[in-house]
Amino acid sequence: MKFQILPFKPHSEKERTRSVPFNNDSTARTPKRRAVLRFGLIWPVVASFVSGCATETPRVLPEPAASFPAEPSPPKALIAIIIDDVGHNERALPDAIALTAPVAFAILPGLPRSERLAETLSRGGFEIMLHQPMEPASDNMDPGPGCIDAAMTPQQIEAVLARNLEQIPLARGVNNHMGSKATASPQVMEVVLQFLAGRGLFFVDSLTTSSSVCKKVADRSGILIAVRDVFLDNVLTREHISGQLQKLRRLALKNGQAIGVGHFHPLTLRTIEELAPSVEEEGVEFVFVSEVIHRMQDKPTGENVGVLREENGSPMDGNGDTGRLLDGDQSRGMPLRSPPPSRPRGR
Ligand SMILES: [Zn+2]
Repeated sequence: MKFQILPFKPHSEKERTRSVPFNNDSTARTPKRRAVLRFGLIWPVVASFVSGCATETPRVLPEPAASFPAEPSPPKALIAIIIDDVGHNERALPDAIALTAPVAFAILPGLPRSERLAETLSRGGFEIMLHQPMEPASDNMDPGPGCIDAAMTPQQIEAVLARNLEQIPLARGVNNHMGSKATASPQVMEVVLQFLAGRGLFFVDSLTTSSSVCKKVADRSGILIAVRDVFLDNVLTREHISGQLQKLRRLALKNGQAIGVGHFHPLTLRTIEELAPSVEEEGVEFVFVSEVIHRMQDKPTGENVGVLREENGSPMDGNGDTGRLLDGDQSRGMPLRSPPPSRPRGR
């Protein structure tokens, strides 16, 4: 007996229709249909015999669908940008609203445009923070209204924070405006951080001085804070901002996340918008700063200890707070009560 394996041929439309199996309607079993069914029962026996005798290469069956989920890709490095000193004017508002990257805007309290800008930017889908004025080391600098002075009592500090947050109720976190004197005071920072933790608000140390004790106090108190890594626009040129964004990207890839702080300038915002896609290309993602802090919660303590790095004493906080700077994320994870971001914009 001689058998021949016929090349595989997909069913024609007509054949497919015809050989629909398991039709329970017995009236449908016409003689022709019965023949088809019978053939269907015999064919597997014949086929197995054929496959045992034939010398031709058996038809290769298609790969079964993968039954296991694909290997999860490693989490992307996160970049968060805070734009602060918001409240003086609305010149940069059109560029802010046009941003597609998720950005947090830190609003100064007590300025004529503070509340309106907070509302407009929040409606635009951005994260809102309170940019809390804190006493600088130099008497020549004016931190503006709603400032926390290093000599204040705990009650005074809490009253100032409560009043400022009342003005910016949309704030989900706080960072310091100036503050090279106040953030160097453990007594002040203890009160500030405890107060914010009690309200479920996160804190980002703008790191306007290397004498800042924010991180030390936070660790001691079991409060999670983040620390600014890079100032984006101390020199207000496209080239400088571009270089700082690349630096931010390198730090994010090295540490898993990085936080950049820029100011409410049209050029800063336009440059971020223009360069964000290329910064984000490989393994890096722009997110709200609250998301960076949530990621930090999952990390074991002791990770991401940054490198002490000195920068020139250029103005560090828009209005001229200066100091020797630490560069690198020195945050570590502790529980935080802040909720996750509500409306990531994502590109
Ligand atoms: Zn500031």
